[in-house]
Amino acid sequence: MHYKRILLKLSGEALMGDQQYGIDPNRLDAYADEIKKVSENGVEVAIVIGGGNIFRGVSGASAGMDRVQGDHMGMLATVINGLALQSALENKGVDTRLQSAIKINEVAEPFIRRRAMRHLEKGRVVIFGGGTGNPYFTTDSAAVLRAIEIEADVILKGTRVDGIYTSDPEKDKSATKFDKISFEDVLRKGLKVMDTTAFTLSQENELPIVVFDMNTHGNLLRIVSGENIGTVVNL
Ligand code: UDP
Repeated sequence: MHYKRILLKLSGEALMGDQQYGIDPNRLDAYADEIKKVSENGVEVAIVIGGGNIFRGVSGASAGMDRVQGDHMGMLATVINGLALQSALENKGVDTRLQSAIKINEVAEPFIRRRAMRHLEKGRVVIFGGGTGNPYFTTDSAAVLRAIEIEADVILKGTRVDGIYTSDPEKDKSATKFDKISFEDVLRKGLKVMDTTAFTLSQENELPIVVFDMNTHGNLLRIVSGENIGTVVNL
Protein backbone atom coordinates (compact mmCIF):
# COMPACT_ATOMS: atom_id res chain seq x y z
CA MET A 1 0.00 0.00 0.00
CA HIS A 2 1.13 3.53 -0.80
CA TYR A 3 0.03 4.94 2.57
CA LYS A 4 0.44 3.28 5.94
CA ARG A 5 -1.75 5.58 8.03
CA ILE A 6 -4.48 7.78 6.59
CA LEU A 7 -6.88 10.37 7.92
CA LEU A 8 -10.10 10.22 5.95
CA LYS A 9 -12.28 13.34 6.07
CA LEU A 10 -15.93 12.81 5.25
CA SER A 11 -18.37 15.69 5.22
CA GLY A 12 -21.66 15.35 7.01
CA GLU A 13 -23.46 16.37 3.85
CA ALA A 14 -22.03 13.38 2.02
CA LEU A 15 -23.95 11.12 4.41
CA MET A 16 -27.27 12.59 3.26
CA GLY A 17 -27.08 10.85 -0.10
CA ASP A 18 -30.09 12.08 -2.05
CA GLN A 19 -31.93 13.15 1.09
CA GLN A 20 -32.29 16.77 2.21
CA TYR A 21 -31.31 16.06 5.80
CA GLY A 22 -29.92 13.36 8.08
CA ILE A 23 -28.30 10.06 7.24
CA ASP A 24 -28.99 7.89 4.20
CA PRO A 25 -28.50 4.28 5.38
CA ASN A 26 -27.42 3.12 1.90
CA ARG A 27 -24.72 5.78 1.66
CA LEU A 28 -23.54 4.96 5.17
CA ASP A 29 -23.37 1.28 4.29
CA ALA A 30 -21.43 2.01 1.08
CA TYR A 31 -18.89 4.14 2.95
CA ALA A 32 -18.46 1.41 5.56
CA ASP A 33 -17.69 -1.07 2.74
CA GLU A 34 -15.04 1.23 1.26
CA ILE A 35 -13.41 1.79 4.64
CA LYS A 36 -13.48 -1.91 5.50
CA LYS A 37 -11.60 -2.73 2.30
CA VAL A 38 -8.67 -0.42 3.04
CA SER A 39 -8.53 -1.46 6.67
CA GLU A 40 -8.40 -5.14 5.62
CA ASN A 41 -5.45 -4.30 3.40
CA GLY A 42 -3.47 -3.30 6.46
CA VAL A 43 -3.86 0.47 6.17
CA GLU A 44 -4.38 2.26 9.48
CA VAL A 45 -7.53 4.34 9.15
CA ALA A 46 -8.59 7.35 11.20
CA ILE A 47 -11.71 9.26 10.23
CA VAL A 48 -13.02 12.75 10.93
CA ILE A 49 -16.63 13.21 10.08
CA GLY A 50 -18.54 16.47 9.64
CA GLY A 51 -21.97 17.41 10.90
CA GLY A 52 -23.41 19.60 8.16
CA ASN A 53 -26.18 17.09 7.38
CA ILE A 54 -27.63 17.77 10.83
CA PHE A 55 -26.52 21.20 12.01
CA ARG A 56 -24.10 24.00 11.18
CA GLY A 57 -23.27 26.73 13.70
CA VAL A 58 -23.24 29.41 11.00
CA SER A 59 -26.80 28.58 9.89
CA GLY A 60 -27.96 28.73 13.50
CA ALA A 61 -26.30 32.12 13.93
CA SER A 62 -27.91 33.51 10.79
CA ALA A 63 -31.28 32.46 12.22
CA GLY A 64 -30.58 34.51 15.36
CA MET A 65 -29.01 31.84 17.55
CA ASP A 66 -25.88 32.47 19.60
CA ARG A 67 -22.95 31.30 17.44
CA VAL A 68 -21.17 29.38 20.18
CA GLN A 69 -24.40 27.62 21.12
CA GLY A 70 -24.89 26.72 17.46
CA ASP A 71 -21.34 25.43 17.16
CA HIS A 72 -21.90 23.21 20.18
CA MET A 73 -24.90 21.77 18.37
CA GLY A 74 -22.75 21.27 15.27
CA MET A 75 -20.10 19.44 17.28
CA LEU A 76 -22.73 17.16 18.79
CA ALA A 77 -24.00 16.51 15.26
CA THR A 78 -20.55 15.17 14.33
CA VAL A 79 -20.74 12.78 17.29
CA ILE A 80 -24.12 11.53 16.03
CA ASN A 81 -22.60 10.90 12.59
CA GLY A 82 -19.61 9.22 14.22
CA LEU A 83 -21.89 6.85 16.11
CA ALA A 84 -23.74 6.02 12.91
CA LEU A 85 -20.51 5.28 11.05
CA GLN A 86 -19.18 3.25 13.96
CA SER A 87 -22.26 1.11 14.00
CA ALA A 88 -22.19 0.61 10.20
CA LEU A 89 -18.55 -0.49 10.40
CA GLU A 90 -19.09 -2.81 13.34
CA ASN A 91 -22.02 -4.44 11.51
CA LYS A 92 -19.43 -5.47 8.94
CA GLY A 93 -17.06 -6.84 11.56
CA VAL A 94 -14.65 -3.90 11.57
CA ASP A 95 -13.20 -3.06 14.98
CA THR A 96 -13.67 0.63 15.73
CA ARG A 97 -13.31 3.22 18.45
CA LEU A 98 -15.06 6.58 18.57
CA GLN A 99 -13.15 9.34 20.33
CA SER A 100 -14.80 12.66 21.04
CA ALA A 101 -13.18 16.07 21.45
CA ILE A 102 -15.95 17.03 23.86
CA LYS A 103 -16.42 14.82 26.92
CA ILE A 104 -19.39 12.57 26.49
CA ASN A 105 -18.00 9.54 28.26
CA GLU A 106 -21.03 7.29 28.21
CA VAL A 107 -21.10 7.59 24.44
CA ALA A 108 -17.51 7.84 23.24
CA GLU A 109 -13.97 7.69 24.55
CA PRO A 110 -12.37 11.05 25.19
CA PHE A 111 -9.76 12.04 22.61
CA ILE A 112 -6.41 10.80 23.89
CA ARG A 113 -3.70 10.94 21.27
CA ARG A 114 -1.60 8.05 22.52
CA ARG A 115 -4.64 5.85 22.92
CA ALA A 116 -5.83 6.72 19.42
CA MET A 117 -2.44 5.76 17.99
CA ARG A 118 -2.46 2.49 19.91
CA HIS A 119 -5.90 1.65 18.51
CA LEU A 120 -4.59 2.31 15.00
CA GLU A 121 -1.56 0.08 15.57
CA LYS A 122 -3.93 -2.68 16.62
CA GLY A 123 -5.84 -2.30 13.35
CA ARG A 124 -8.90 -0.56 14.77
CA VAL A 125 -10.55 2.16 12.77
CA VAL A 126 -10.59 5.31 14.91
CA ILE A 127 -13.37 7.84 14.35
CA PHE A 128 -12.84 11.32 15.75
CA GLY A 129 -16.07 13.09 16.69
CA GLY A 130 -16.73 16.52 18.15
CA GLY A 131 -14.50 18.38 15.68
CA THR A 132 -11.68 20.22 17.46
CA GLY A 133 -13.88 20.68 20.53
CA ASN A 134 -13.89 24.45 19.98
CA PRO A 135 -16.45 26.77 18.43
CA TYR A 136 -15.52 28.81 15.34
CA PHE A 137 -13.63 25.87 13.84
CA THR A 138 -14.64 23.38 11.19
CA THR A 139 -14.26 19.66 10.87
CA ASP A 140 -11.72 20.29 8.09
CA SER A 141 -9.54 21.94 10.75
CA ALA A 142 -10.21 19.01 13.05
CA ALA A 143 -9.18 16.62 10.27
CA VAL A 144 -5.86 18.39 9.68
CA LEU A 145 -5.17 18.76 13.40
CA ARG A 146 -5.84 15.09 14.15
CA ALA A 147 -3.89 13.96 11.07
CA ILE A 148 -0.82 15.86 12.28
CA GLU A 149 -1.24 14.68 15.85
CA ILE A 150 -1.47 11.00 14.93
CA GLU A 151 1.28 11.39 12.32
CA ALA A 152 -0.87 10.31 9.40
CA ASP A 153 0.86 10.17 6.00
CA VAL A 154 -1.92 12.04 4.25
CA ILE A 155 -5.36 13.51 4.61
CA LEU A 156 -7.85 12.08 2.15
CA LYS A 157 -10.76 14.42 1.58
CA GLY A 158 -13.63 12.39 0.19
CA THR A 159 -16.08 14.53 -1.77
CA ARG A 160 -18.60 14.09 -4.57
CA VAL A 161 -16.18 15.71 -7.05
CA ASP A 162 -13.13 13.78 -8.27
CA GLY A 163 -10.53 16.43 -7.52
CA ILE A 164 -9.63 20.10 -7.64
CA TYR A 165 -10.66 21.96 -10.79
CA THR A 166 -9.74 25.31 -12.30
CA SER A 167 -13.31 26.39 -11.41
CA ASP A 168 -16.43 24.67 -10.04
CA PRO A 169 -17.06 21.76 -12.47
CA GLU A 170 -20.70 21.56 -11.36
CA LYS A 171 -21.20 25.10 -12.73
CA ASP A 172 -18.50 25.54 -15.38
CA LYS A 173 -18.31 22.89 -18.13
CA SER A 174 -14.89 24.13 -19.34
CA ALA A 175 -13.27 23.52 -15.93
CA THR A 176 -10.22 21.22 -16.00
CA LYS A 177 -8.86 19.04 -13.23
CA PHE A 178 -5.42 19.18 -11.63
CA ASP A 179 -3.67 15.84 -11.03
CA LYS A 180 -1.43 17.59 -8.55
CA ILE A 181 -0.98 21.15 -7.35
CA SER A 182 1.14 22.93 -4.75
CA PHE A 183 -0.28 24.57 -1.62
CA GLU A 184 0.99 27.91 -2.90
CA ASP A 185 -0.78 27.55 -6.25
CA VAL A 186 -4.06 26.69 -4.54
CA LEU A 187 -3.79 29.92 -2.54
CA ARG A 188 -2.53 32.00 -5.50
CA LYS A 189 -5.36 30.81 -7.75
CA GLY A 190 -7.94 31.23 -4.98
CA LEU A 191 -9.10 27.61 -5.30
CA LYS A 192 -11.35 26.15 -2.63
CA VAL A 193 -10.01 22.98 -1.05
CA MET A 194 -10.65 23.54 2.65
CA ASP A 195 -11.24 26.64 4.75
CA THR A 196 -8.13 28.79 5.12
CA THR A 197 -7.41 27.84 8.74
CA ALA A 198 -7.41 24.14 7.91
CA PHE A 199 -5.51 24.60 4.67
CA THR A 200 -2.64 26.67 6.10
CA LEU A 201 -2.30 24.28 9.05
CA SER A 202 -1.80 21.49 6.54
CA GLN A 203 0.66 23.55 4.51
CA GLU A 204 2.74 24.59 7.53
CA ASN A 205 3.03 20.98 8.63
CA GLU A 206 3.73 19.66 5.14
CA LEU A 207 0.79 17.30 5.31
CA PRO A 208 -0.35 16.36 1.79
CA ILE A 209 -4.05 16.48 0.99
CA VAL A 210 -5.74 14.30 -1.60
CA VAL A 211 -9.16 15.37 -2.84
CA PHE A 212 -11.06 12.52 -4.46
CA ASP A 213 -14.52 11.20 -5.31
CA MET A 214 -15.61 9.06 -2.38
CA ASN A 215 -18.88 8.07 -4.01
CA THR A 216 -17.39 5.81 -6.67
CA HIS A 217 -17.03 2.24 -5.53
CA GLY A 218 -13.40 1.17 -5.00
CA ASN A 219 -11.92 4.67 -5.14
CA LEU A 220 -10.67 4.79 -1.57
CA LEU A 221 -8.72 1.57 -2.08
CA ARG A 222 -7.35 2.87 -5.41
CA ILE A 223 -6.07 6.00 -3.69
CA VAL A 224 -4.35 4.17 -0.85
CA SER A 225 -2.82 1.78 -3.39
CA GLY A 226 -1.16 4.78 -5.02
CA GLU A 227 -3.38 5.39 -8.06
CA ASN A 228 -3.63 9.09 -8.80
CA ILE A 229 -7.33 9.38 -9.44
CA GLY A 230 -7.92 12.59 -7.48
CA THR A 231 -5.86 15.74 -6.96
CA VAL A 232 -2.81 15.69 -4.70
CA VAL A 233 -1.93 18.94 -2.90
CA ASN A 234 1.68 18.92 -1.83
CA LEU A 235 4.61 21.27 -1.27
N1 UDP B 1 -17.89 22.67 14.65
C1 UDP B 1 -17.25 23.44 15.60
N2 UDP B 1 -15.93 23.20 15.89
C2 UDP B 1 -15.21 22.24 15.25
C3 UDP B 1 -15.86 21.48 14.24
C4 UDP B 1 -17.19 21.70 13.97
O1 UDP B 1 -17.87 24.33 16.22
O2 UDP B 1 -14.02 22.07 15.54
C5 UDP B 1 -19.34 22.86 14.41
C6 UDP B 1 -19.64 24.04 13.49
O3 UDP B 1 -20.83 24.65 13.96
C7 UDP B 1 -19.89 23.37 12.15
C8 UDP B 1 -20.54 22.07 12.56
O4 UDP B 1 -19.88 21.72 13.77
O5 UDP B 1 -20.74 24.14 11.35
C9 UDP B 1 -20.43 20.94 11.57
O6 UDP B 1 -19.11 20.81 11.09
P1 UDP B 1 -18.73 21.12 9.56
O7 UDP B 1 -19.56 22.25 9.06
O8 UDP B 1 -17.28 21.23 9.47
O9 UDP B 1 -19.23 19.78 8.90
P2 UDP B 1 -19.22 19.35 7.34
O10 UDP B 1 -19.30 20.59 6.51
O11 UDP B 1 -17.94 18.61 7.09
O12 UDP B 1 -20.41 18.46 7.23
